Amino acid sequence: MKEYARGARTEGRVIGLVPTMGALHEGHTALVRRARQECSCVIASVFVNPKQFGPKEDYQKYPRDLEKDAKTLGDAGVDVLFAPEAADVYPDGFRTYVHVEGISERLEGRSRPGHFRGVSTVVLKLFEIVQPHFAYFGRKDAQQVRIISEMAHDLNLDAEIVVCPVIREADGLALSSRNTYLSAEERMAATVLHQALVAARDELSRGVRDAMQLQTAMRRILEAEPLANVDYAEIVSADKFEPVVRVARSSYAVLAVHIAKTRLIDNLLIEPASPGSDDFVFQL
Ligand code: AMP
Repeated sequence: MKEYARGARTEGRVIGLVPTMGALHEGHTALVRRARQECSCVIASVFVNPKQFGPKEDYQKYPRDLEKDAKTLGDAGVDVLFAPEAADVYPDGFRTYVHVEGISERLEGRSRPGHFRGVSTVVLKLFEIVQPHFAYFGRKDAQQVRIISEMAHDLNLDAEIVVCPVIREADGLALSSRNTYLSAEERMAATVLHQALVAARDELSRGVRDAMQLQTAMRRILEAEPLANVDYAEIVSADKFEPVVRVARSSYAVLAVHIAKTRLIDNLLIEPASPGSDDFVFQL
């Protein structure tokens, strides 16, 4: 992979990297399409990274179908699929990790200790192997892409991090490889995440800026669904993912909710309509 990528760089090609864990869906192919528009060499990785799963999480049962993913990526115009084995990525004696302090401990990091250490480490390794000019991530995992951007900044990485919009089903559910775990009944219940974010957006549109009031609006929807169990539903700053009392700058409404045994996340981006403006726009 290193040799190929180095060759492509020497030829003057612009390299785009799309890191994934496979079980690909439209959310992933949207990243590939964006990379295809902006880069002359698109590399996608499929690697279920053991270091980002907790001991009681779904590493073993995470959906894997490399053959199908290879076809999907080929059809989407990817030049190279990089699908290493865990033993090659983490050979015996592997002891070096990247940790982005502070932000990695909050929200997802608090519920999933060590998760972001695993993410940052594997993404840095992928960047070192592929040396991409651009790397494409989804806003679906907003905290993750913020952490990766921090890492890229702190460690003077050359890769430019590109954040792409959330791709959703017709009923609003954000696409996720983990949606395949949901039964028909759970799949219907899972729409509460989107509904809760819509409720927050509606409050914001009415001029509500108080974080507690926005959280209450989200919780009211989530708690009305018997299959839903809220992990967190908060309003946080877009830079540090710290709780805010009032929405005054770029922020996120962030959710993590168990639908029966499946843990799902989603978010609403809240941004000033223009730099410094008191008007906000909202992106689901
Ligand atoms: P994963 O395979 O879940 O690790 O995701 C790989 C990349 O795809 C990450 O950058 C995710 O944020 C992105 N992604 C996953 N689901 C979506 C979605 N519904 N919309 C946009 N991006 C997504």
